[in-house]
Amino acid sequence: MSPAKTLPPGSTIGILGGGQLGRMTALAAARLGYRCIVYAPEDHSIAGDVAAGHVSGAYDDTAALARFAAQVDVITYEFENVPEAAVTACGKLKPVRPGVMPIHVAQHRLREKEFFKKLGIGTADYLSITSDADIAAATALPGILKTCTEGYDGKGQVRVADRAALAAAWRQLGKRDCILEALVDFRCEISAIVARGLDGATRCFPIGLNDHRDGMLRSTTVPSDLLAETIATAERFGMELAGGLELVGLVALEMFVTKDGRVLANEMAPRPHNSGHWTIDACATSQFEQLVRAICGLPLGPVDVLMPSRMVNLIGEEAGDWPRYLADPTARLHLYGKATARPGRKMGHVTFLQRSSSPRRSTT
Ligand code: AMP
Repeated sequence: MSPAKTLPPGSTIGILGGGQLGRMTALAAARLGYRCIVYAPEDHSIAGDVAAGHVSGAYDDTAALARFAAQVDVITYEFENVPEAAVTACGKLKPVRPGVMPIHVAQHRLREKEFFKKLGIGTADYLSITSDADIAAATALPGILKTCTEGYDGKGQVRVADRAALAAAWRQLGKRDCILEALVDFRCEISAIVARGLDGATRCFPIGLNDHRDGMLRSTTVPSDLLAETIATAERFGMELAGGLELVGLVALEMFVTKDGRVLANEMAPRPHNSGHWTIDACATSQFEQLVRAICGLPLGPVDVLMPSRMVNLIGEEAGDWPRYLADPTARLHLYGKATARPGRKMGHVTFLQRSSSPRRSTT
């Protein structure tokens, strides 16, 4: 096989998906002299707002996908629930990076857990739930019942204390294929974001310490005060995952640290991740630039922490506090340009540098 070619600045990157991750990727790409064209079902997208072009089309519209692919040199995706068939169709026309396999694995919780297991990455105990008989035999209790597909930010999951609650929860989730995960009594949640280049080189960003509320990421702090041993295990899991998926691009691995110091993988996403937003303002290379570097065959950038930081999501109406963040010299404000602030909607984020400041108003 001939060595894969570097795509030099001036080349065009196609992005499947029009959300904030696509938007921040397009901004990072523009800084390095690349153009981006966004593909999304809606006529207008917040990623398209900052890109060179926007193609509107359904994910099963093969003619529109082909029109999009014809305009770009490489294709990436900004969310893992892009239908696999759309990614496969694009892959026949242009290189798709990270690739089809990473989303095949990430789109299905059971496949994902089994993939972790195969690589020796620890997880909570889990069971496949696809029938009433599985409910009757369930042992991972108390636990969390999660749909195998289409769950994110805590959606499609129900905490269950006992078998009766489990049966009710399964009915509530429409008796869809699920996994039942044992409830992890964790000390904290962390994530590793790993880049893997076209040449197979891997680099892990410093591990972030994550705070979740209502199943959604609230804040990420870097550097963490984790034990060196915990950090080493988390980095190793992230690197093994990136290698196992043979991806070119980024993968984020969310993990629990248990009270007895074990590291257990929760889920992964083969794309930039909310817990990596701090890298824009406080790391030598941002996760978005790292993605561009990886998929264009450029050398990966350094991942040194430039300044201690805490990234806080601005959810719903919280984004209305923007004047306060602009007035705070330690805050770096990022707004995503979304027209309406619905509850639970990620509208932006703010990164506080040097940990000397945090939002004055509690938002919990
Ligand atoms: P997920 O959608 O799987 O990322 O879950 C969202 C959040 O729910 C996680 O970040 C945790 O805070 C919590 N959670 C998920 N799975 C478990 C588990 N097995 N044990 C305890 N908490 C969990």
